[in-house]
Amino acid sequence: MTGEAADPTAGDAWIQHEIRRTAFEHAFGGPIDTDGRAALALRFDHGLANFARHVLPLTIERGLTVSQAHNPRNWDLRENEGVTPEEMDDWIRAGHVEVWNHSASHRGISTPEDVHEEIVASLAEIEEQLPAAAGKVWGFNPPGVPGEDYAGFGKGTHPSDWVTLPGRTILAHHAVASGHVSGTTQRVLDGRVRDGLAHVTLDARGVGEITKRIDAVVRKRRGLQLMLHPSRLGMEGKLTVEALTMILDRIVELRDRGDLVTLSPYQLHLADAGGVARDRAAN
Ligand SMILES: [Zn+2]
Repeated sequence: MTGEAADPTAGDAWIQHEIRRTAFEHAFGGPIDTDGRAALALRFDHGLANFARHVLPLTIERGLTVSQAHNPRNWDLRENEGVTPEEMDDWIRAGHVEVWNHSASHRGISTPEDVHEEIVASLAEIEEQLPAAAGKVWGFNPPGVPGEDYAGFGKGTHPSDWVTLPGRTILAHHAVASGHVSGTTQRVLDGRVRDGLAHVTLDARGVGEITKRIDAVVRKRRGLQLMLHPSRLGMEGKLTVEALTMILDRIVELRDRGDLVTLSPYQLHLADAGGVARDRAAN
């Protein structure tokens, strides 16, 4: 690898990021009009065994395109057992699943070589394993690495995270990246693509709390991304398949009623509810 490409300056990273974002916005045709409605997207982080067995049949049946945050070097983990790249590629080709880079192996990192392997090499490996996703892995979902360091990046919570080497590398190689910027759980829907947006993790939450959070974005015409680790479905104290089904049914009910639109996580970044101008006019 060349030093320059592996260690972009903040300026280089931002320029590359902007150009990738230009391509992303054009690939999706620009802002997605929600006709004044709230928008919701579902993200699933690895756990391919339970994802294939329990989640995908439910989301396909309800016409939901969901994302997989993928680690191309973790196929042999127990939580991914039984699913092949060919099978996952079929889901992508059929339009049921979109893919986000979730790092090569979901481990803590420290050196520039680690950064390259986990963030940059990972992208090429995903595209090689999943040809249907080639050219369409626009985004990076930073992996959670409890108790370990991510070469200073943390979780993408603080502005300063994004000028660290991992932060600059993520931006240089992706059109969009999620994070945990505070105050961004209920997303503004104005068609402007933003980085660092937070999500709500379903794993240990009850149906009642999730329903309240969905109702809140419906009221405010905001956007919500719900995330689940499928590997934890049905574990003690965690969401069950039945509870997940109830949440999905609630989402479909609101969609059928015209209260919200369901989008993929990539699409959610482009959602435009026209709410900003409308709310200002109303106040
Ligand atoms: Zn993860």
